[in-house]
Amino acid sequence: MVAIIIHGGAWDIPQAEHEAHLRGVKQAAEAGYEVLQRGCSAIDAVEEAVRLMEMSTTFDAGAGSVLNAEGEIEMDAAIMDGSTLGLGAVAAIKNVTHPISVARHVMEGSSHCLLCGDGALRFAESVGAEMRGMPPTAREMDRLQRIRGIKNYQQRSAFTEGPKGTVGAVAMDDKGHIAAATSTGGTPGKIAGRVGDSPLVGCGTYADDESAGVSVTGFGESIMKVTLARRVCEGVERGMTAEAAARNALDHLARRVDGLAGVIVIDSNGEMTHVFNTPYMAFASIDHEGAYIASIGKD
Ligand code: ASP
Repeated sequence: MVAIIIHGGAWDIPQAEHEAHLRGVKQAAEAGYEVLQRGCSAIDAVEEAVRLMEMSTTFDAGAGSVLNAEGEIEMDAAIMDGSTLGLGAVAAIKNVTHPISVARHVMEGSSHCLLCGDGALRFAESVGAEMRGMPPTAREMDRLQRIRGIKNYQQRSAFTEGPKGTVGAVAMDDKGHIAAATSTGGTPGKIAGRVGDSPLVGCGTYADDESAGVSVTGFGESIMKVTLARRVCEGVERGMTAEAAARNALDHLARRVDGLAGVIVIDSNGEMTHVFNTPYMAFASIDHEGAYIASIGKD
């Protein structure tokens, strides 16, 4: 019994971008599923799916990352192995092609869980990670110009100029192990050095074979205050279905911090769900029977 679920960000995705987002999450789901069908681990599958989306300029991850206030790309990523609670993450890392693979190296090749900034970059170099200078996309240079035109800081931080297509994957392999991965360029126009929820354990990413795997997208400053991913797992631990636990956690996010987000979940029974309270969320999943679902609209 293998399964995979993917997201490509939850936000006010403009109509013109729907097709590209949908295509991107479908390709990632297919790539990850193929890895699972070959008998590889859930960790292999989520890494492969996220790497694919990091290569696409459609999403706010890897090559398509948004720019910080200084016009630079700084990326966050995390990967977690639900069988061992192994965890690897990088924050505010520059210049690497695949932050998710560097995060995996942190998990498997260091005694740490989270590396940030220059140290993370030097670690990436030391393990031979792929470094390809990623020029900012014209779309993101244009967006930054518009953000710089907004003088009021509160307005700048509003959701409309907030998240823009973080990517994530959760998978279950044929041994029943669950893994989760999330990768992002963060929020456009962020202060240099800002770290979002994605690389923070229990906030944007969590996996535990005893409850569920979760990847989150949305406005990190709200998500981290309620440790959203872990909250979904706690709901499952208390006996809720994946769907009920995800809805419950999002209701809490909205009530306590007026937050907007989307989550993808696979629980230890193999139940998959995606829930969001944003206008749209790009998602695709393939279950153990090979049944395929993909959508971008209301859940
Ligand atoms: N959660 C990400 C962050 O705040 C953004 C997103 O999900 O699009 O960095």
